[in-house]
Amino acid sequence: MQYPESLDRLSRELSRLPGIGKKTALRLAFGILRYTPEEAANLAEAIRQVKERIHHCDVCHGFTDLGT
Ligand SMILES: [Zn+2]
Repeated sequence: MQYPESLDRLSRELSRLPGIGKKTALRLAFGILRYTPEEAANLAEAIRQVKERIHHCDVCHGFTDLGT
């Protein structure tokens, strides 16, 4: 089945995540499709923010969003 390009794109991006196969990715994409615009914006922002803020701590070797 052919899906609209934007839905297909979201599904393809989600399928790159560990443990997420194509079917699961499509299911998640349809879940996001049911989001309100605000919920979708929150998800997008959370993804953006985690890459902006989280880094590897040199002291404990865990992940942190504090300090440098
Ligand atoms: Zn630490």
